[in-house]
Amino acid sequence: MIPMVNLKAQYAEIKAEVEQGLAQTIENCSFILGPNVQAFEKECADYLGVKHAIGVASGTDALHLALIAEGIGAGDEVITTSFTFIATAEAIKYVGAKPVFVDIDPKTFNICPDAIAKAITTKTKAVMPVHLFGQPANMAKIKALCDQHKLKLIEDCCQSFGASINGVQTGAIGDAGAYSFFPSKNLGAFGDGGLVVTNSDESAAKIKRLRNHGSDVRYYHDVIGYNSRLDEMQAVILRAKLKRIEQYNQARRHAAHLYSELMADLPLTTPFEDGLGVHVYHQYTLLCDRRDEVLKALQDQQIGCAIYYPVPLHQQNVFKQECAGVSLPVTESVAARCMSLPICSHLADEQVKEIAAVIRGVLTA
Ligand SMILES: *Cc1c(COP(=O)(O)O)cnc(C)c1O
Repeated sequence: MIPMVNLKAQYAEIKAEVEQGLAQTIENCSFILGPNVQAFEKECADYLGVKHAIGVASGTDALHLALIAEGIGAGDEVITTSFTFIATAEAIKYVGAKPVFVDIDPKTFNICPDAIAKAITTKTKAVMPVHLFGQPANMAKIKALCDQHKLKLIEDCCQSFGASINGVQTGAIGDAGAYSFFPSKNLGAFGDGGLVVTNSDESAAKIKRLRNHGSDVRYYHDVIGYNSRLDEMQAVILRAKLKRIEQYNQARRHAAHLYSELMADLPLTTPFEDGLGVHVYHQYTLLCDRRDEVLKALQDQQIGCAIYYPVPLHQQNVFKQECAGVSLPVTESVAARCMSLPICSHLADEQVKEIAAVIRGVLTA
């Protein structure tokens, strides 16, 4: 049996450190915005090369609070991708704005800068690219468009912790970046968690207020906020993993390159690295016309596999009505053929070889 993500093997390496940190937190009883959240925020800001990193309750909240802090609201349009997890668009809806879905690049599956340019209207207030599957979006082009049209740039970095462009981390390029620490993400907690990063003192102050009931000083409330703090226990776990994130991402890249090498001659399309940035392979996603057969063979061998994402957002029931008439041919064609294989910080070469052999068996039979 090979799971999509082997969290047990990852835990075995950090068990002692995590147990000690958790025990100490329980002894100290400093459970809310305690020393570990503060230290983790500082460590993240240093690692990501940003002025501010603010721990929140989830990646979805990170996107939501970043949108509020950047002044996006009712009637505004936010250009984003349809080929992503629902949370990207949910956050836009939470602030009363309209997600405007545009098509993706057929090779990287990331939002297409030319499609963004064509979708800009007088109502457009922000662009929200997703660094999908861990590969940075084409930020040079996207940033230039945002600067030219005076649009806010909010990066959905929920799949891209550690990915960078010319040494600059994703999230440090736009006005704000939102990270998720959902357990299966590249940097995963033992529950939910998230982070907003920004270089703006003003935005950081707003986000700190918003995550804590609209309050800077306890029991004095300036705006309607939320209860969306990163949990102290999760911060203990995240600090242990942050120390090892380079090693984790390197292991993902190694496994991805081995997969691609082993399957290079097969009738499928292995992931494309555009070379504009460092891909950290949150997912290893390929295109295959015989997807159903391959998925079945893997399932029969108890090998994890999944479709990210089977239904693009503009075709989801929740968006069907407001997206009537929207046609995104590249997105639709990719969604019909994509499939993801197991990848994580602890996937052995032998397992990659076994998985590639099963796929070879199907496609060369
Ligand atoms: C995981 C994810 C989110 C949401 O993060 P949560 O922590 O689960 O709320 C948002 N956007 C993308 C692209 C994601 O992959």
